[in-house]
Amino acid sequence: MLKRKIKRVFEHVAAKFGRHERRSSDPELLILGYHRIIPLNHPEFQSMEPGMRVQPATLEMHIKILRQHFDFVDLNDWVSRVTNRLPVPNKAVALTFDDGWVDNYEYAYPVLKREKVPATIFLVSSMIGTDSQFWPERISGILSYIKGEKRAGLGKEALKWFEQYQFDVNNSRSFDEAGVNALILRLKEKSDDEIYKSLTVFADVECKIPHLAHIMNKAQLLEMKASGFISFGAHTKRHFRLDKISDYALLEDEILGSKSDLEGLLDITVSGFCYPNGSFDNKAAGVVKRGFQYSCTTRKGWNSTKSDLLLLNRILLHDDVSHDPVSFKARISGLI
Ligand SMILES: [Zn+2]
Repeated sequence: MLKRKIKRVFEHVAAKFGRHERRSSDPELLILGYHRIIPLNHPEFQSMEPGMRVQPATLEMHIKILRQHFDFVDLNDWVSRVTNRLPVPNKAVALTFDDGWVDNYEYAYPVLKREKVPATIFLVSSMIGTDSQFWPERISGILSYIKGEKRAGLGKEALKWFEQYQFDVNNSRSFDEAGVNALILRLKEKSDDEIYKSLTVFADVECKIPHLAHIMNKAQLLEMKASGFISFGAHTKRHFRLDKISDYALLEDEILGSKSDLEGLLDITVSGFCYPNGSFDNKAAGVVKRGFQYSCTTRKGWNSTKSDLLLLNRILLHDDVSHDPVSFKARISGLI
């Protein structure tokens, strides 16, 4: 309780005296990162990772506050102006959305269009228009399906898979949030390619789990492109964490392949990249440099015209840390 009160005091101070309130001699750029935009009453809201979601009303509130302190810019434009030594606003903000969730089209796009705010969406090219799911989503689908009686029907291979990750299917407590998170953490030690391949042992189970398409399709992307408010960047082909890839050809395919996929599909030039999970190493950064003018990380902070455009800082947002004006301003303040 006391800890929460102290945190709140810090938030108030940061909200009042943060970088957003000060003028700087050098132009600055704040990049904000969102994932899913989804209303509280949506059937999926509760089951979604809290770190992934922002309500449309929260996004609107963010935009209102940002308008008081910043000029909205399209990230591609800002980078190209800086590269060509053209003037940029003293305080600019660029909104970005990762992964290409269909709720970006359903709930974020109407707000952005109405408020005339540009944004960049980083797309996972091989997932566009498919009903593929990211592996953590697939794991939670499998776990909620086999919870209870259905675990008895698991085959030998599937049981061996759980054993390998020290997940006790016979203990109902394994299925709690902490148990699921522990399993995800153990899986994260492997490369994404290995994880996806290993999930074939659940083919029988997964074909019984209905799921909706969560990723936008080409028509939705083209409609947003035509509005003039939305631009796109690459977020790999399959959302593989790049520091876990040892095969150089696969690394190139994930990074450069996503760029050519998007350019072909949407008839655009893709100049921006965003690292999945914020993960990268020198090898990955070297490949990104060959194909892109800029890239976004998950390193928290602001940027200036002198920043390394290939390693831009971003502040990630979700409802839990930005649902009211004070916590949002504190989050973007550059102080905490
Ligand atoms: Zn992502």
